[in-house]
Amino acid sequence: MDIINKISENPKMWDIFTKKEEYNPLFSDRYERFPYYLSQHRNVMEPLVSRYLIENGYEPEYPDGKKFAVCLTHDIDVLRTSIKNCASKSLTSALKGDFKNAMQYSFHILKKKQHPYWNFKEIMELEGRFGAKSSFYFLALKPDERDYNYSLEEVADEIRYISEKGWEVGLHGGHESYNNLEDLIQKKKMLETILGKEVVGYRNHYLRFKTPDTWELLSKAGFKYDTTYGYTDCAGFRNGMCHPFKPFNLNTGKEIEIVEIPLVVMDCTLLRDYMRLDFKKAWELTKQLIDRVEQCRGVITILWHNTYMQEENLELYEKILKYCQEKDAWVTSGQEIFNNIWKNNLQ
Ligand SMILES: [Zn+2]
Repeated sequence: MDIINKISENPKMWDIFTKKEEYNPLFSDRYERFPYYLSQHRNVMEPLVSRYLIENGYEPEYPDGKKFAVCLTHDIDVLRTSIKNCASKSLTSALKGDFKNAMQYSFHILKKKQHPYWNFKEIMELEGRFGAKSSFYFLALKPDERDYNYSLEEVADEIRYISEKGWEVGLHGGHESYNNLEDLIQKKKMLETILGKEVVGYRNHYLRFKTPDTWELLSKAGFKYDTTYGYTDCAGFRNGMCHPFKPFNLNTGKEIEIVEIPLVVMDCTLLRDYMRLDFKKAWELTKQLIDRVEQCRGVITILWHNTYMQEENLELYEKILKYCQEKDAWVTSGQEIFNNIWKNNLQ
């Protein structure tokens, strides 16, 4: 099915899908993002456009007859934390009676070089136990760039290991990349030199994104898919889609040569900075979103940072993996989802 044609037959769906409201907005937040609180389209917990497509005969297919897919992803922002930070976390865990974590943090202090966030192998082992794979998006920052915490050279072995095992390594663009073609090209090259092969997947740091310009830049830089498109301040379906799609540029009247696998759930949106849900509420919402994507035979993209793999945050992540396994979802990397779209001619 030509999904762009189908959606354009329905003006209400077309407006939600293209996100006309995000072109030249009156206001954006301090990271130049279009926030959910500014959107006219309030029903963000329903994948309205995807539901419309399914009701009109859209039939996505996944390997082994799976009903729906999970695009599992990690942004690697921070690998190092200070000894002071470790000590404070160790003490907090001990006070809460969580001696396993307290010991772990103390252990990191003693070993100095080892850090709790240097946990790629642990994440992969955990996912492997649930029959899942995922994508790791690495920053390619220089020491003078904002939020620099590690260099690609020092994680070169890990990057190659991740890729050899069949997980994906993609680029996590820096603060300004979403708006700068040269920067995108340069960072993609830096990562490809370390990885030894083409980088196809992308997500911008802080989910910074300008509709539709960032898609155009990513396409020009040679990325095959992006998975930035979700709100930072609220979980859900930013343009009503829970299927990967080619974005449509209202300024040029053309499709953009890139696939968007929209982001639906980010750990810090649920828990810490924005929605401020407790464990129970965060789980209830995530479960509902997974169920809705299953009903639409869609793809739910989940972002869990490597810094959210401790204590309750880890417990929640494991709960998500277990639930998706029980539902027999195809839980995999963005790259695999992208490959599947072409195999099944879904665009
Ligand atoms: Zn980031």
